[in-house]
Amino acid sequence: MAEILVLVDHADGAVKKVTLELLTLARSAGEPSAVFVGAGADAAIPTLAEYGAAKVYVADAPELSEYLVAPKASVLAQLVAQVAPAAVLIPSTAEGKEVGARLAIKLDSGIVTDAVGLNADLSAVQSIFGGAIIVTSKVAKGTPVITVRPNSSPAEAAPAAGERVEVAATLSPADSGARITNRVEQARSARPELAEAAIVVSGGRGVGSADSFSVIEALADSLGAAVGASRAATDAGWYPHNHQVGQTGKTVSPQLYIANGISGAIQHRAGMQTSKTIVVVNKDPEAPIFELADFGVVGDLFTVVPQLTAEINSRKG
Ligand SMILES: Cc1cc2nc3c(=O)[nH]c(=O)nc-3n(C[C@H](O)[C@H](O)[C@H](O)COP(=O)(O)OP(=O)(O)OC[C@H]3O[C@@H](n4cnc5c(N)ncnc54)[C@H](O)[C@@H]3O)c2cc1C
Repeated sequence: MAEILVLVDHADGAVKKVTLELLTLARSAGEPSAVFVGAGADAAIPTLAEYGAAKVYVADAPELSEYLVAPKASVLAQLVAQVAPAAVLIPSTAEGKEVGARLAIKLDSGIVTDAVGLNADLSAVQSIFGGAIIVTSKVAKGTPVITVRPNSSPAEAAPAAGERVEVAATLSPADSGARITNRVEQARSARPELAEAAIVVSGGRGVGSADSFSVIEALADSLGAAVGASRAATDAGWYPHNHQVGQTGKTVSPQLYIANGISGAIQHRAGMQTSKTIVVVNKDPEAPIFELADFGVVGDLFTVVPQLTAEINSRKG
């Protein structure tokens, strides 16, 4: 069966859910092998094997962790030359898309970004214009490089060998152009990570203040969701910028997206329009966000959202 490489997204060996989704997706078109770059492979391999990685290529030379994305693209390019896979799947995160672009240039191959599905013939499925149009594209040149959005498909276990294969990658001077000089661990919230969350509850200018975001957080916590925000809310300093959803923020594709006090500007839609179900709370019935809504409530969010939170909490008992 054709080998498909999956770049592992991890933090010191803790494998992110999107990797497991990609391993599952890769099985629909071939036999997945994981590519692990950086430190912590021992912790990651059992999980990668559980989700179907026949092999785990490990490049863990210390210098690989010292530089930004360039070494990952180099490791992948050298592996592609060695094992001639049928395709390379990469998480469609900001970092993943940069790795993918660099890899495609190195390989002189075509790339499809932001895929939400993969067919057995290695054509990739993209969902555009708020899910109104489904595009199927196939790379016509070289080894297909495909970046796949988190939360696009389920992660299903299918135990495989997970055989560890060491990779000795050679880095070029260009790979070490930007060195990481310091790492500061971000204070962790108990909420799920925004780009990976199955449910996202977002607030916009309609929330009105930093303090009032507690209303959004309470709904998020009742659902075990991540909190998102429009740029109007982050620019106003009401919520941290790393929670911004949209063209210049994060792209999310959760099962459920609840937009509260957000008008639906094109730049906001760009980051959330592939969400599976979209619920809108807005006091203006003409707000463009209602065009995307599967379920909309015209009303003041300070009336609607606390009632919704209370109802969810009461159903949970
Ligand atoms: C280059 C560029 C990049 C950008 N990138 C992004 C991006 O990544 N993400 C992003 O979000 N924006 C981005 N923007 C900004 C974008 O154009 C909008 O200005 C922004 O999304 C508006 O945020 P908003 O919907 O919260 O605010 P508004 O457009 O002001 O909408 C507020 C909404 O809240 C409703 N409302 C008010 N009070 C209540 C209430 N009490 N209850 C219920 N509803 C209420 C109003 O009816 C209104 O619809 C970008 C803009 C540019 C030019």
